Amino acid sequence: MFNKINQTKVKFNTKTIHGGQSPDLAYGSVMPPIYQTSTYAQSSPGKHQGFEYSRTHNPTRHALEQSLASIENGTDGITFGSGLAAIDAVMKLLSPGDEVIATNDLYGGSYRLFTKIYERFGVKFHFVSMKDARSIEPLINAKTKLIWVETPTNPMLNIIDIKALALMAKKHAILLTVDNTFATPYLQQPLDLGADIVMHSATKYLGGHSDVVMGALVVKDKELAQQLYFIQNASGAVAGPQDCFFVLRGIKTLHVRVQRHCENARAVAQFLSAHPKVGRVFYPGLPNHTNHDIAKQQMSDFGGMMSFTTAAGTLESAVKVVEQLKLFTLAESLGGVESLSGHPASMTHASIPREEREKSGVTDSLIRLSVGIEDVKDLLADLEQALS
Ligand SMILES: *Cc1c(COP(=O)(O)O)cnc(C)c1O
Repeated sequence: MFNKINQTKVKFNTKTIHGGQSPDLAYGSVMPPIYQTSTYAQSSPGKHQGFEYSRTHNPTRHALEQSLASIENGTDGITFGSGLAAIDAVMKLLSPGDEVIATNDLYGGSYRLFTKIYERFGVKFHFVSMKDARSIEPLINAKTKLIWVETPTNPMLNIIDIKALALMAKKHAILLTVDNTFATPYLQQPLDLGADIVMHSATKYLGGHSDVVMGALVVKDKELAQQLYFIQNASGAVAGPQDCFFVLRGIKTLHVRVQRHCENARAVAQFLSAHPKVGRVFYPGLPNHTNHDIAKQQMSDFGGMMSFTTAAGTLESAVKVVEQLKLFTLAESLGGVESLSGHPASMTHASIPREEREKSGVTDSLIRLSVGIEDVKDLLADLEQALS
C-alpha cells in the first residue's frame, strides 16, 4: 500500500479520514477491502507478502490498527474482539503477585474481569477514588505494576488527572493505562499526557453506529507494542475483518459526530440542571462538576455522556422516567448516533455489589444518558414529557 500523507503533520480531522490508510495496491480501492480470508498463499515455504494467517495478521485489521495509532498519536494499534478482550490483553502483561491500582468507579465489566478472573490468578487490585490523584501514592509498593484509569468514569463522569498520574507512574516505573472510551481521541489524547496504553471499547464512539463489538489498545512504545501483539496472537481474541471495516468507516466521521454529541449533551445538561424533577446532574462540562477545571485542561470538550438522579431519589421514579422516554432507547451500551438511556444499578453495574456501587455514587435513582446526534429540540421534548 502507498501513503502520500505525512502522518505527523496533518491535523486530527484529517487523520480520522486518512490516518494509516491509502488506496489499496491491487485495484486502487479507496476503502481498504474486507480481506475475508483465514490464510494467504506462499510462493515457497516461508515466502509470502507479509501475511500468513489471519489470527496473526490481516490487511483490513492492519489498516484499522494504523488508523487508531494515528488518531491517538501512538506508534501501534492492537485490536481485539471486544473492549473486554483488549483489557484482558493488558492484564496478561502481569504475573501472580503483581498489584494494580484501579479507579473505583469503573465500567462494570472491567470490575468483573479484575475481581472474578484476575484475582483468582493472584493479581491484587486496589479500587480507589482517583479524584485527588496524589491520594493513591501511599498504595504504591514494589509489586505495583499497573495503574488503571477511566476518565471520564462510567457512569459518574468523574474526572481524573491523567498528567498527574502519569508523572507518578513514571517515577515508580509503573504502566499507566487509560480507558478512553467515553472521551474518544477527538476530545482527549492520553498518550500525549504521559499514559503508556490507551484502551477503547470501539463498540462505542469509534464504531459509532451500534453495529459492532470491538476493542482496541494504542501504545507509543515499540517494545510494549511487541508484547501486546504477542498476547493478541497467542491468546487469539482478534477482531474480524468485516468488523474492522465498520470501525474504519466509523472513525472517518468521529470528529463530526463527537462535536454534535458534545453540543447536544451541553444543552441536555443545562435543561436537566434547571428541571424541578431532577436531583443532581453529573456532566464534566458543568462548572460545579468535581474536577471541572481538570476536564477543561485535558479535554477539548466534555463529551456526550451524563448521569442524573431524580429529585424523588427512588428506584421507582427512575424506572418510570426510563420507561416513559421514547427517543432515548433504554439499552446497554453508548456512543452510537442514537440517544440511549440506562439504569446503571440494574443494568451495566448490576455485577458490582450494592455497597461498592453506592460508595461510588451509583444509587438506585441514577439514570445514565448517551446523548445522540438527533435534533436537540426533540431530545429535550422527550426528556420533558418523561420527567413530567
Ligand atoms: C463498553 C465499555 C467497555 C467494554 O467494552 P466491550 O466492547 O463491551 O467489551 C470498557 N470500558 C468502557 C468505559 C465501556 O463503556
